[in-house]
Amino acid sequence: MALRRATFRLYPTKQVNDLLHYHRRLHKELYNAAVHNRVNSYKKFGKSVSYFEQQNFLPYFKDVWIEYKQVNSQALQSTLKRVDFAFQRFFKGLAKYPRFKSIRHYSGWSYPSFTGWKTHSTGDNGYLELAKIGHIQMRGKARLWGHPKAMDIVYRNGKWYASIVLEVDEILLKSSRQTDTGIVAIDLGCNDAIAWTNGKENGLIAAPRFLRKAGDKNKRLGKAKRRKRSPNFKKKIKASRRWKKAQKQVSKLWGKVANQRQNWVHQDTTRIISGNSTVVTEKLEVKKMSAKARKGKRKKQKSGLNKSILDVGMGMIKDALKAKLSDVGGLFVEVPTRRVLPSQTCPKCRHQEKKTLDQRIHFCKNCGYHQQRDIASAEVMLLWYSNNLQELGTSFLDVDGFSSTSNTSKRKNTGSLKQLSRAKRQKSQATLGDVETPGDNVVSQG
Ligand SMILES: [Zn+2]
Repeated sequence: MALRRATFRLYPTKQVNDLLHYHRRLHKELYNAAVHNRVNSYKKFGKSVSYFEQQNFLPYFKDVWIEYKQVNSQALQSTLKRVDFAFQRFFKGLAKYPRFKSIRHYSGWSYPSFTGWKTHSTGDNGYLELAKIGHIQMRGKARLWGHPKAMDIVYRNGKWYASIVLEVDEILLKSSRQTDTGIVAIDLGCNDAIAWTNGKENGLIAAPRFLRKAGDKNKRLGKAKRRKRSPNFKKKIKASRRWKKAQKQVSKLWGKVANQRQNWVHQDTTRIISGNSTVVTEKLEVKKMSAKARKGKRKKQKSGLNKSILDVGMGMIKDALKAKLSDVGGLFVEVPTRRVLPSQTCPKCRHQEKKTLDQRIHFCKNCGYHQQRDIASAEVMLLWYSNNLQELGTSFLDVDGFSSTSNTSKRKNTGSLKQLSRAKRQKSQATLGDVETPGDNVVSQG
């Protein structure tokens, strides 16, 4: 059994909408009460409260706060789990100390099992039935449908969503799998979004500039907002009604951009997957690349780069590719960038030479090969992948693990690109200031 997630937009009636908001508020208050309980008991008695203590206290809590009796108790438990999760993350040093949440920053609640709700759907629109709340019209289409196991109710940008976890039959999954065997290498660039090659054909998928298009509108809205009275919590100034109105327009715009981007990512990754079951791409540290450059000439150039990286959402593209490949039983391979240096290597003769960021064409001084820069990088990646396959002579599955281990001492195949780059590694490590090579101290595992 495999688990899949499908998200539907909800269209509640006015009455149900009010109830949904009421429930969201109850969950938010429980969340804050649980945070307060933990903080207080530690401050006053030096005793830390566990999740189970809070869970066992829920029935008594409901005796006092009787409005919680109409809320699904497993949903209440999952809200307590969210608090527990927030503290766990703090103890692990992954997040800040949990704070009280305002209703604006409280997204919704979860049903951790199949009780308290029911779907009347086969994956294509339908109805959602929530106990004590009512029937809600649901719109959307799941790629695969199965047994609903759990659900999150999410309120975002003024809209309600149901994100349903489904248990999908393996047989159904297999029948949806394609039998394609193609291999494609892609380079997630900035100027042209995605450069791809399968060895015979290549091409560029242009990056949409949603942010830039929306940017002008955002500028205008921002200006209008600045002229209005903004809230100041410390000075106890409330936002004016006009400011709130302007703010609403801004968040509406961003919501739209987010949707457009997601749409684009899904459509284009589907296009990449069709006909191919293996996707080879570069290991990228998006975070590192979009970190602000503080000083120097590169500042402006880099901030433009940052904008387009964020614009396209490389992380989103990769995640979508991974998810789709796992559905079709395909393989997602990440090339170790610092060993292979796709953007600096000639795919024909493997001659290595650094390019500056504005050099959009690969022109090899050694063999005269001429190609668009990102396509050339993709070609190097494809070459690396097929060389490794020959070297290993093994099944597909080993390759993914192979790319993250560096146990290469036994192999003596001098022709491989990998060995070439190994010989050059010392040299390249000395000159790692380039933007395109993410930092060495960041260890990431695919
Ligand atoms: Zn060359």
